Amino acid sequence: MIRITDIIDTILENNPDADVDLVQRSYIYSARVHDGQMRLSGEPYLSHPLEVAGILADMNLDGVSVAAGLLHDVIEDTHATPEEISEMFGKEVSHIVSGVTKMSKLPSFTAQAREAENIRKMLLAMADDIRVVLIKLADRLHNMRTLQYHRKADKKKKIARETLDLYAPIASRLGIYWIKRELEDSSFMHLRPDEYARIRNLVNKDRTEREKYVETVRNRIKKEMEKGGLKCETMGRYKHFYSIYQKMKSQNLEFEDLYDIIAFRIILDTKPRCYESLGLLHALWKPIDVKFKDYIGRPKPNMYQSLHTTVIGPFGERVEIQIRTHEMDNVAKSGIAAHWGYKEGQRVDENVSKKFAWIQNLIENQENTNDPDEFLENVRIDLFPDEVYVFTPRGEVKSLVRGSTPVDFAYMIHSEVGNQCASAKVNGRMVPLRYELETGDIVEVITSKGHHPSRDWLKFVRTVKARTRIRQWIKAQDKERSISLGREMCEKAFRKHRMNYNALVKSEEMEKVLEYFGLKTVDDLIANVGYGKITPLQIIRKLEPKPEEEESEEKIGSILNKLIGHVKKKKPKEGVIVRGVDDILIRFGKCCQPVPGDPITGYITRGHGVTVHKTTCVNALKINSERQIEVEWNLDVTESYPVNIRVISYDRVGLLADLATNISKSGANILNVNSEIRENKMVDSFFTVAVRDTKHLNQVLASLRKVKRIMKVQRINR
Ligand code: MN
Repeated sequence: MIRITDIIDTILENNPDADVDLVQRSYIYSARVHDGQMRLSGEPYLSHPLEVAGILADMNLDGVSVAAGLLHDVIEDTHATPEEISEMFGKEVSHIVSGVTKMSKLPSFTAQAREAENIRKMLLAMADDIRVVLIKLADRLHNMRTLQYHRKADKKKKIARETLDLYAPIASRLGIYWIKRELEDSSFMHLRPDEYARIRNLVNKDRTEREKYVETVRNRIKKEMEKGGLKCETMGRYKHFYSIYQKMKSQNLEFEDLYDIIAFRIILDTKPRCYESLGLLHALWKPIDVKFKDYIGRPKPNMYQSLHTTVIGPFGERVEIQIRTHEMDNVAKSGIAAHWGYKEGQRVDENVSKKFAWIQNLIENQENTNDPDEFLENVRIDLFPDEVYVFTPRGEVKSLVRGSTPVDFAYMIHSEVGNQCASAKVNGRMVPLRYELETGDIVEVITSKGHHPSRDWLKFVRTVKARTRIRQWIKAQDKERSISLGREMCEKAFRKHRMNYNALVKSEEMEKVLEYFGLKTVDDLIANVGYGKITPLQIIRKLEPKPEEEESEEKIGSILNKLIGHVKKKKPKEGVIVRGVDDILIRFGKCCQPVPGDPITGYITRGHGVTVHKTTCVNALKINSERQIEVEWNLDVTESYPVNIRVISYDRVGLLADLATNISKSGANILNVNSEIRENKMVDSFFTVAVRDTKHLNQVLASLRKVKRIMKVQRINR
């Protein structure tokens, strides 16, 4: 078992100024709270945080990371609280430990390949400090190293699967290839023990012979480079077992046919020498050109740089060679701050890469900041600032725009789920539907059959899908409502004229009526009645047999009507839009006199279209919700609207003239004036003025307040 003194030595070696005291104290605390706990291996539990801390120290991380590594399991597995950790070891350590704990609490994933990408993103999104991810990787690495002690075979497989699907790719994208390789090999060993053993045996079988081969190739390369005046290091190493396995599978080859299980590397001093060395190499052995990649000229998004080439070697075999500088070799090994975005075997996701441009800057400027603490301080990350990742109760991950609510989530699952969404639970607790989802939330939508969308939802939903579906539903509802209202009105009117509505609706005469109004279905006709565009009487007149003269009059009327109808279409639009209905009769409530800018609502009247009120109007509050309809100001139309203004002032000569002048100066017309003198020498003046909107109104009010000896100016309802 690794000792704390070894870890501290490593830290001091990397950074003599590191906060060793913090590490020491964390060790003592961790030992105390984990006391008595055992690992499945039979070792004391403390061995685990110690090993994790050792890995972090080897990765050249700062004291805070190592301390957090020592404490990474104390919140989850002991009585320790975040507050306590914060008090004893500072906010930073506590923040990181809490981050690791949050990640560990996630349900275990049985990821579909399709979803793995989302889950990986979510894991990273949850960690707002890159050190959380690094500790999680070290934690997983040690857990994989001791996975054989797990007793349950299926549990072992599940952990190995998760490691292969999630953690190895994360390590790869962060550019920490040694962790990626080790995680892949250990997962491979547990998932396909037979394949793993077979490849290991094959690699070991001809080991001496192969080592001789490696020496031959290395020496040839070295000699050739020296001839060309290039100083270099060369090495040849076996690829890890999992990548050999993948190669055999993807190229459908037997092990014996795989020559490129050994990769050679040439390390030089400078970038130009890398290209020189490539030239020499290609002169020596014929390159397979499709296999050439210049990652020096075009680095991978995670900062990896190297020239990759495959050549036909001295024995006619394929030889894979990487060429890079010492510096590039270091980046390839540690890759700590290398950023996320490289999709293995796929092209780079440009958007993600762009977000990481600043990390690239950090790396480039690293030479200027020699203090690794300071460097890591800057690597606080918000990897996906525009998205949140949440779970369905079954553990699937969904990604939504930041600010989304359970209603957005419900519509994402299915339109019907959205339409019937009655309430929601997040992490087992009831939340309001306008609750803002956070990454890691488990969201459960509770539906009920009779439930339906509410206009209010439009105020807080964030996704386009939710907004569209809610609007559609409301529109359909409005039409349905106007149909039933129209039918009710027609039935009454028909009865008065001793006509049978239900029989006539299905009659041939009705077809003629529809044709006359230019409508397709009876529902359209009835809806128009409901909206107040057509009166029941107009329909009745068309259905009733009439005396001859009247008929001709009617004919003229109908021609006129059609003409007017035609002209109407071209007339400027109304100042208020009723969703889903064009060309409807609009009137404004005299009670509250709404002007553009006021929040408004509509009320379907019997046969007189829609009346618009301010939402705060007492009459609007009285409206039966069955008849309420969504309306909004048409900002394309500029019209004038009357409002009432009351001015209280001291009486003086020329007062009214001054008031009138200021109203005119602010560009409003006075429609009516009324003045009352009260006993205490005060005057109440009432104006009705025409304004364009609330902004204009406010200008008028402000101009009135400037008049001398004014007490109070206010907009009033009548
Ligand atoms: Mn752990």
